[in-house]
Amino acid sequence: MLSPSFFRINSAKHLCRFFDLRPQTMLVFRMTKAFLPFAFCLLTSAFCHSQSEMIKYAHQIVDTLASPGMHGRGYVLKGDSIAADYIKKEFKKLGLKPLGKEFYQKFTFPVRVAQKDSIEVDAKYHSDYQTQNILGYIKGTQHPDSFIVFSAHYDHLGMRGKDVYFPGANDNASGCAMLLTLAKYYAKQALPLEGGGGGGLKYSIAFMAFGGEEIGLLGSKYYVEHPIFPLKQIKFLINMDIMGTGDEGIKVVNATEHKKEFETLVKINEEKKLLPSVQPRGKAKNSDHYFFEEAGVKTFFIYTLGGIKAYHDIYDKPETLPLTKFEETFELLTEFVNTF
Ligand SMILES: [Zn+2]
Repeated sequence: MLSPSFFRINSAKHLCRFFDLRPQTMLVFRMTKAFLPFAFCLLTSAFCHSQSEMIKYAHQIVDTLASPGMHGRGYVLKGDSIAADYIKKEFKKLGLKPLGKEFYQKFTFPVRVAQKDSIEVDAKYHSDYQTQNILGYIKGTQHPDSFIVFSAHYDHLGMRGKDVYFPGANDNASGCAMLLTLAKYYAKQALPLEGGGGGGLKYSIAFMAFGGEEIGLLGSKYYVEHPIFPLKQIKFLINMDIMGTGDEGIKVVNATEHKKEFETLVKINEEKKLLPSVQPRGKAKNSDHYFFEEAGVKTFFIYTLGGIKAYHDIYDKPETLPLTKFEETFELLTEFVNTF
């Protein structure tokens, strides 16, 4: 892998990933070595200018959530709360309404938190550390009491010692970027059409950013035990965790539980030629869909496959997160929701 500083070169960073990830491109470059400087300029401008508004917004979310100021979105220096505040502000900005009385659903749990200037051995024990889920929604017009739910956890592993933090770009700033991108899209869909008449959504759509995932799915478990509206009003829940690549497609947890919905997903993907593969997987207790599914809610947990391998380490950085199939995955999800 190229050194991180190489990737840092501002807007050229996406281009660099382009070089890094596409062998065909490398071949073309070798063949046209003499014209390399010219080809480089041409490709730089073409590629950088072609970056869509959606990808720009997604990178902005990932860059912010995975920045040093979020302290790894764990419990050292209240990184979790800084991240939650940012997501709450985005929800507000996009025009979402709080699902409960406010956007936050607070809950507590016991945790050992390292002190600012010490190593973990000196961690302080908190018997009731407070964190939160952030819950917003857009009201549907035809069936406002039925919900499609999108969820993604925003917490990550925090810090080790006073200098090392885990950025958690793919896990799961990328899922939060998808959550907010979907919120932005549906907020627009809900607006009245120009020249009068209703835009509007068939169902209400809820957006749930869960805390406490990395320490045992605590935020989503708390929500299932303290739902804001009856769980049976959820038509379908799509949980998104690790949305940053997609070079090899996506994996769908609970595909074997909901065969009809999975077939729909595969059919849309084939018709629209979006992702290289949509692969089935059975039940798994590996992200925030789990306690919903156990409580009788139909859920899929979707994660992207291929590309960079950084996971739960300090290399899961925004600079190297390609968002390869972000737009295609977005299209697949919105087309899937259209079938309800
Ligand atoms: Zn995760």
